[in-house]
Amino acid sequence: MDDRAVDILLIGGGIAGATAAATLRAEGFEGSVLLVGRELDEPYHRPPVSKGYLQGAESRADALVRPHEWWEEHGIELLTRTSVLGLDPAARTAALSTREEVAFGRALVATGAMVRRLTVDGAGLEGIHYLRTLGTADALRADVEDAERVVCVGGSYIASEVAASLTVLGKPVTVLMQEAHTLERQFGGVAGLWFRELLEEHGIDVVGRDEVARFEGDDGRVARVVTVGGRTLEADAVVCGVGALPDVMLARKAGLELGPLGGVRCDARLRTSAEHVYCAGDPCEFESVLHGRPMRIEHEEVAAAQGATAARNLLGADAPHEEVPYFFSDLADWAAVEYVGPAMAWDEEVVRGSLEDGRFAVWYLHEGRVAAMLSVNGGGDLDHARALLRSGAPLD
Ligand SMILES: Cc1cc2nc3c(=O)[nH]c(=O)nc-3n(C[C@H](O)[C@H](O)[C@H](O)COP(=O)(O)OP(=O)(O)OC[C@H]3O[C@@H](n4cnc5c(N)ncnc54)[C@H](O)[C@@H]3O)c2cc1C
Repeated sequence: MDDRAVDILLIGGGIAGATAAATLRAEGFEGSVLLVGRELDEPYHRPPVSKGYLQGAESRADALVRPHEWWEEHGIELLTRTSVLGLDPAARTAALSTREEVAFGRALVATGAMVRRLTVDGAGLEGIHYLRTLGTADALRADVEDAERVVCVGGSYIASEVAASLTVLGKPVTVLMQEAHTLERQFGGVAGLWFRELLEEHGIDVVGRDEVARFEGDDGRVARVVTVGGRTLEADAVVCGVGALPDVMLARKAGLELGPLGGVRCDARLRTSAEHVYCAGDPCEFESVLHGRPMRIEHEEVAAAQGATAARNLLGADAPHEEVPYFFSDLADWAAVEYVGPAMAWDEEVVRGSLEDGRFAVWYLHEGRVAAMLSVNGGGDLDHARALLRSGAPLD
């Protein structure tokens, strides 16, 4: 027996689920909507976790996607601290951790991602952090209060952003990464070198082309990072930013088809293999009309845009997801980074503007067509890049 029934069940209280809820109401839907999220907090923006919130410049309330009263005002039932433990797409029921069973008309899986963890020796020592939630940022801040040296592991956004944020807090930081240059996997060698030098100019030690062999500790707490290249880096605390994995636990258990990229396989309309069940955000592996292939993208604006598309399709719009993926990041107030793409491959990088002045764009071309564009400190025209990406027109 179902304990109750809702028209639309949204699973996951991140930006994708929250944007879907807002879109349902903005589209005039008056039926019942239940949003179930496992976290303690109401839906919030995750980017501040490694930036403004970690630095202490933004509060918990600043990070909320909608103010507390918004949910009730819009007639959306929000269950925080609650997990969906099971989903039966055929029976259209969901089992909650509250032991309730909810019958639904249609559902959205917006379960986000989980951090990837290092499994080297010493990985269980105290003082080794991973960032995903506001709570993990609180724990890191408290833990580095007296730290004299923090090691950030990873060459991508999170490790670079955390390195910048901790530097703002006055902490000496070392970045350790497999790449030669920071952010080079995403943005190539020219921009990567520029980002690396930016971190170094602000006093961060950057160790490239090396990786963690093991962590060593004193009295159960991390004290050193020993690298494969034979270095020993002193560390009172460590932050690992070594990637995320789509959270497909519920989807797998529910029998939804998964894709080769590890996400929940969806068509261009973000429909999963189960009728009446859609997916949005980090786990969504969808047929991208724009790229002509399956894509899975872990960016805040992409998750929001997919939440909006999925909501319209939950209401029967039958519209493909065609938004050009957009990404932003800040390295303290040293650099504002924006990017449209993503480029799966490129054979030419064209720099416009001035690397020296720190205001520039990198255009990534593949076989004479724009595959992506990076804009640093407002140096690139994002709308122009979006138009070229959409048209796929060859450049002369
Ligand atoms: C520290 C950090 C900084 C970032 N900075 C940037 C940035 O600057 N720019 C950018 O574009 N992107 C950034 N990202 C990535 C971006 O935040 C994510 O792509 C985005 O949050 C994805 O949103 P989502 O709604 O898909 O998933 P999530 O934000 O992960 O939300 C999913 C939620 O669902 C919950 N959940 C999972 N399973 C269940 C279940 N069975 N029942 C109930 N609830 C469940 C999870 O606990 C989670 O709260 C950052 C990510 C992190 C971790």
